Amino acid sequence: MTVITDNLADKINTYLPISLSDDDCLPKNICNTCTDTLKSFDSLYLLAQQSNEKLQKILEKNRRDIEEEGGRFG
Ligand SMILES: [Zn+2]
Repeated sequence: MTVITDNLADKINTYLPISLSDDDCLPKNICNTCTDTLKSFDSLYLLAQQSNEKLQKILEKNRRDIEEEGGRFG
């Protein structure tokens, strides 16, 4: 068990369908398994975001290349 830090509370509020606040009179601890799961959520979130950015850039570059080729040969 560890105390829920602000950093962990932010992740819980972002990824889970619950919302924590300092004055909700609920437990302020989280077990290690849930902490690890929450960190995995965070990694997946960031990975998805970064992958999407990379793919969007490639797509955009391909579009530009095709447009340039169209201009040259069309
Ligand atoms: Zn737990």
